[in-house]
Amino acid sequence: MTTNATALIAPSTGAAFERGQITRRDLGADDVRIAIAYAGICHSDIHQVRSEWGPGTFPMVPGHEIAGVVTEVGPEVTDFQPGDRVGVGCFVDSCGECEPCQASEEQFCTRGTVMTYNSQEYSGEPTYGGYSTEVVVRAGYVLRIPEELSLDAAAPLLCAGITTYSPLRHWNAGPGKRVAVIGMGGLGHMAVKYAHALGAHVTVLSQTRSKEDDGRRFGADDYRATSEEGTLESLRGSFDLIINTVSADVDLDALLATLTLDGVLVFVGLPENPQTLSVFSLTSARRVVTGSNIGGIRETQEMLDFSAEHGIAAEVEVISADDVDAAYERVLRSDVRYRFVIDVDTLRD
Ligand SMILES: [Zn+2]
Ligand SMILES: [Zn+2]
Repeated sequence: MTTNATALIAPSTGAAFERGQITRRDLGADDVRIAIAYAGICHSDIHQVRSEWGPGTFPMVPGHEIAGVVTEVGPEVTDFQPGDRVGVGCFVDSCGECEPCQASEEQFCTRGTVMTYNSQEYSGEPTYGGYSTEVVVRAGYVLRIPEELSLDAAAPLLCAGITTYSPLRHWNAGPGKRVAVIGMGGLGHMAVKYAHALGAHVTVLSQTRSKEDDGRRFGADDYRATSEEGTLESLRGSFDLIINTVSADVDLDALLATLTLDGVLVFVGLPENPQTLSVFSLTSARRVVTGSNIGGIRETQEMLDFSAEHGIAAEVEVISADDVDAAYERVLRSDVRYRFVIDVDTLRD
């Protein structure tokens, strides 16, 4: 039977959150029911609640950094049982048949990946995210959270973690590779930790030096302030890989000049405006500009296991459900080190 969950609901574009009830579907044969413990606040939640990426579907319950505990499984589920510590990331279903799905790159499903919220199940039902007490998800889209990771610090790994881990792995960050991370926010701090753990030489490119101590603690070998005169000029030809985590406009030509032969610049932050470049910036050293979008289920599990093995988790500030509107304002001011996580128990009071 369907169950009710308490949720933080945005009734319309940009409106403050209200507590309310949503209905979760009947437990299907291959479904897992999860009592949510923590839900991370991702910058994309704010974009979607404010309809900044096109009109959102309301009422909306954001949240795609979900950590919790299994409470019930359908009869065909063999991988999970009640009591298991699990996570749910940015998507909850995909066709399972197309080439990307077959390769466990479900985020690129050609039928259209079913996103965790502000999306529709293939049945047409709206999806509601993790700012809620419970969720029902097909077992194949549920991740296992290793015992070594606390649930609050693990939650942001389901988006911020995989978003940075995936391009680092895809473009072979590792020993002998020089990686630059632009931005030291929710995504950037994870990129620094993973690039360091993978064995790369890591440079942070931040606007100021205000987070330099943190950056070095997370594993940065070098830390440069782009607001200081001549910073990018002094780094010409320095990097094999740049992970750009910021959504502000960038001077692509100046950044590309810091890449070596065959160097790659990857966008994981999403600027609203078109970004322009001179083609000479590419041809002069066969450089590549590309983008990356979260990661598939298999790689997300690999990221969680890697995190446990290397003692990596997000730096979090745990907040009550009543503080989410205020937290959004602080995210917009970059006033968070480095991820807000909602203690979902505060929705159960
Ligand atoms: Zn996200
Ligand atoms: Zn597919």
